Amino acid sequence: MSQNNKPTLHIWLLGDEFVGKTSLACRYNNEQYSGKYRKTIGAEIFRKDLNLNDNLVSLVIWDTSGYDGFKKKHTPFLRSADCCIFVFDVTYRKSFESLNFWRDEFFLRAEKNPNEFPVALVGTKIDLENEREVSKQEAEDWCKSFSIPYFECSAKDDINVQEVFEAMTAKLAMKCIPKGIRICNNK
Ligand code: GDP
Ligand code: MG
Repeated sequence: MSQNNKPTLHIWLLGDEFVGKTSLACRYNNEQYSGKYRKTIGAEIFRKDLNLNDNLVSLVIWDTSGYDGFKKKHTPFLRSADCCIFVFDVTYRKSFESLNFWRDEFFLRAEKNPNEFPVALVGTKIDLENEREVSKQEAEDWCKSFSIPYFECSAKDDINVQEVFEAMTAKLAMKCIPKGIRICNNK
């Protein structure tokens, strides 16, 4: 079986500009945190191969650019999303208040069933605890209303970043690789 036959999982990162989506994807992709702001134009893709329960899985992370770049052109790609991670900045309340917008927008465009589709919420920049504007409890309450998991991270200090993607890919792998089945990747 060729490498191209690996199951591919598409994970989208959505949220306001400047909340730390690109830093999160870069950190997970083993790139160093630079601290410099590099504006995302349209969408960027990060690819990573993972070994999940002896199966090779290709992960594609879609890093978007906030509302300006989140135009209709994304819609066809959104339909192949396997998971969506909503991202806000715990030090910027407005980015938390935008979450309902992002959630509505995603489900409208991706045409997924909100009751079944895998989603998570990530609060970023927890290294800036003194500047926090959204409590953990508040974010957890938002998640509880949709029965979705909540993670708090720092891309800067590399706190909890791997855990987010691992938890979501493990969840997805259970769907795309039925239990007891092993995909052989002999090139
Ligand atoms: P995006 O627009 O959502 O992709 O946000 P970026 O990843 O480009 O980050 C926006 C700004 O926040 C940049 O200046 C980053 O250096 C900064 N930033 C991102 N993640 C963190 C973090 O975990 N902690 C701190 N203190 N700053 C961060
Ligand atoms: Mg970005």
